[in-house]
Parts: sequence; structure tokens; C-alpha cells
Amino acid sequence: MLNLDPRSIILLGGIMSMLMSVVLYFLRRNYPPSIGGLTEWATAPALIFVSTLLLGARGMIPDFLSVIVGNVILLVGLALLYFGSQRFFGLPPSLRLWGAVILAAAAVLVWTRVETHYGNRVLMMALVMSLISFAHLRLLVRHGARSLATYLTASSLLILTLAQVYRFAWALGAPADDKLLLLSPVQTVLFTIYALCILMITIGVVLMATDKLRAEFEHLASHDSLTGVLTRRALLDACGQELERGRRKGRAMSLLMMDLDHFKTINDSHGHLKGDQVLKDFAARVASQLRRPDSLGRFGGEEFVALLPETSLDEARIVAERIRAEIEADDRGLPPYRVSTGVTTTAAADADLDGIIARADAALYQAKNKGRNRVEAIAPPTQ
Ligand code: GH3
Ligand code: MG
Ligand code: MG
Repeated sequence: MLNLDPRSIILLGGIMSMLMSVVLYFLRRNYPPSIGGLTEWATAPALIFVSTLLLGARGMIPDFLSVIVGNVILLVGLALLYFGSQRFFGLPPSLRLWGAVILAAAAVLVWTRVETHYGNRVLMMALVMSLISFAHLRLLVRHGARSLATYLTASSLLILTLAQVYRFAWALGAPADDKLLLLSPVQTVLFTIYALCILMITIGVVLMATDKLRAEFEHLASHDSLTGVLTRRALLDACGQELERGRRKGRAMSLLMMDLDHFKTINDSHGHLKGDQVLKDFAARVASQLRRPDSLGRFGGEEFVALLPETSLDEARIVAERIRAEIEADDRGLPPYRVSTGVTTTAAADADLDGIIARADAALYQAKNKGRNRVEAIAPPTQ
């Protein structure tokens, strides 16, 4: 058996927590506020560190500080880790519920101090710790992304919960002798598991925050900041993938190339800001007319392209006509505007995307030439 005393393990665990607290405070400073929960996540391990100092100093400082304050701070630290995850998922922290639980736990601690029965205290602490970690685990299972970061955090929480449940059961059947209970090797093993779990949970949340930041950057890179639809690049990528998929499956995809009519005039007479609102309105209304597998992208200024997978030319023409009618129908307090659309579809002869885009562009040109606010379609060359 390893010759480690509980005090050293508690202290070592505390120091690891403190280091993770420093790491999390750095993230909090550098990450955008959209990554929520970092304040709570950073503060929690610092509190856990303080609690280990107090618990580890048992016998050297007044018992009130060590036993009662130390354990209460430990519970607050665990709850804060949980609150951090709630904020991370955009949920309000359940302060009232867990505040009440911790207050009740504090009362029990004061009472067990008077009783000086160590076993009761272990029972209560194991119970509350397992409850907090279980609630935290449940939150991750419900809201966490399916990622390594979530799995790491969740499995550490599961181990922590199970270890506390075991500790509870063990304390139930343990002898009433305080000294024996305190120095039992079972306690030493449980302390070690606790320290490692806290370390893994804090590493897990660091990874979760990093994952979320990366996802936000990826979204920024692939979405137009004004209208929220795909950027030209992202849409072209989607078209390329669909072309490949359609070729394998032998199904055609269609493109709608849409350009707002006389948009320059809208800018000139209502201002650029109103023009921006029109663009946002247009993107939202087109999106409302598309199906789930369709994609919409902003190709440039006031030009948008919709990709309709597995859609024939006739079907695509109907969609384009529906969009045209929707835009014409209701101006929603914005300057009235209209759209012209060029439609085309793919054929086996289409070797690359450029030819298809050029055909949609030509159809759009026809729509403009024939008087705007209309849909024109060009079928692929049959061959
Ligand atoms: P047409 O019917 O032939 O398409 O005429 P148009 O005026 O729509 O076409 P033109 O290409 O002459 O003008 C496009 C205008 O779109 C010019 C440009 O200032 C405006 N524009 C491009 N990007 C934005 C933007 O992000 N916001 C705003 N408000 N206007 C933009
Ligand atoms: Mg235009
Ligand atoms: Mg244009």
C-alpha cells in the first residue's frame, strides 16, 4: 500500500486545483464574453484550494475553521463548478436550490461538531457532494456537445459521484470510533479519487471552452456577418460537395441566383443603413421559403445564391417564383424592393461548378433584361 497520508493528498490536490484556477482565469481574460461560465469555473478550484488548506490544517487551526468553514467552502466550490457549466450552456445558475442545500449542510456541520461524531459528518458531506456532482453530470449529459471534452468532464463527474456514494455507504457501516474512521485507508483512496476528479473536471471544462471558441470562429468564418447566411466561399464548398454527391447518386441539384432590383436606388434614397436592413430582411425571407437540406449564401453585395439539392429545374423554378411572390407581397415597413432570379440545374455533362454558376448568371441576366422582378431558367445542355 502506498504510504501516503490523507493530509498530503488533500494538499497536493489543492495545489493542482489552484494551478487550474490560474489557467481558467487566463482563459476568462482572453476569451470573448460569449463563452459563459469561465468566472465560476475559475473561482471554483481556487475555493477548493482554500478548502483543502483548511481541511489539511486540521488540528493546527481551530476546528471551527477547519471542519466547518473548510467543508462549506468545499461545497461552495463544487456548486460553483456546476453553476459555471450552467452559464456555459446559457442557463441561469440554480443559486437558490443549492444555496439552501449548502446552508442546510452548514447547519448539519455545526450540529455534528457539537456531537463530535465524525461518521455523521462524512455521511452528510458524501451525500451533498454526490448530489452536486450528479446534478452537474446530468446537465452535461443533457446539454453537452458530443465531444471528447464533454466525455472527459462527464466521466470524471460520474466517478466523483460514485466515489461519494461509496463513501456514504462505507460511512454507514463504519465503526463509531472517529480516529479509526479518519485514518482508514479507504478515506485515503477516496481523497485521491476526489483530487484527481477535480483535476480532470477542470481540465475538461478548459477543453469545453476551447471547443466552443473554435466553433464560434468556424461559424464566423463561414457565415456572413450582416445577414447570417453562408459566405460565398462556404456556399461554393457546399455546392462542390453536393455536385459530387449528386453525381454519385445520379440526382440533379439546382441553383437560384438572386439579385435585388435597383438596389443602388434604395441605398441612394433611404441610406445605406436601410439598405442593410433590406438585405437582412431578404435573407430571412428567402430562408423561410427554403427546405431543410437547402443552403443560402451571400455571393456579393446584394446578390444571393440558393443551393437546392436533389431538385429538378421545374421544382426550382417554383421555389424561385414563391420567393419572388413573397418579396413582392409584403414590405414590412421597409422600402419596397424586388428580386430577379436566374435558375439552372445540373446535368451529367456538367464537369465543374463554374459552368453551372455561369448558366445561373446568364439566366439572371435574362431576368434583368426582360424587365426585372421575374424568374428566368436555363436548362443544362442535353448531351
Ligand atoms: P440591378 O437591378 O441591375 O441589379 O441594379 P442594382 O442597383 O441593384 O445593381 P448595382 O450593381 O448597380 O448596385 C448594387 C448596389 O448594392 C451598389 C452597392 O452600394 C450596394 N451594396 C453592396 N453591398 C452592400 C451592403 O452590404 N449594404 C448596402 N446597404 N448596400 C450594398
Ligand atoms: Mg441588383
Ligand atoms: Mg448585383
